[in-house]
Amino acid sequence: MIQIEEKLYQNRYRVDEGRPHIKIKNRETCTLCYDKSCTVLCPAGCYRKNETEEVTLITDGCLECGTCQIICMEHKNIQWEYPRGGFGILYKFG
Ligand code: SF4
Ligand code: SF4
Repeated sequence: MIQIEEKLYQNRYRVDEGRPHIKIKNRETCTLCYDKSCTVLCPAGCYRKNETEEVTLITDGCLECGTCQIICMEHKNIQWEYPRGGFGILYKFG
């Protein structure tokens, strides 16, 4: 059976260096967020939780699915935009 990592590897990205299209507004809010669903539900694993419960976000492999924006509705702690034209995911290889 094909693993999700193999599927994701089929994608290509053009990273807009220094201009992430998604940002965490307030890191302190994340430490108080009980289940930190973004660290489990992002299909690309862009959100990570460390041993001190800090949440980090690296958007380079983002699929632009919008899931994190929905699951953070309660805290409204994500600033979400599509990447600028010409940047982001290229699905044609997948
Ligand atoms: S769901 Fe929102 S508030 Fe909770 S950890 Fe993720 S980004 Fe932070
Ligand atoms: S838009 Fe989707 S792939 Fe991108 S960071 Fe949010 S949940 Fe992950």
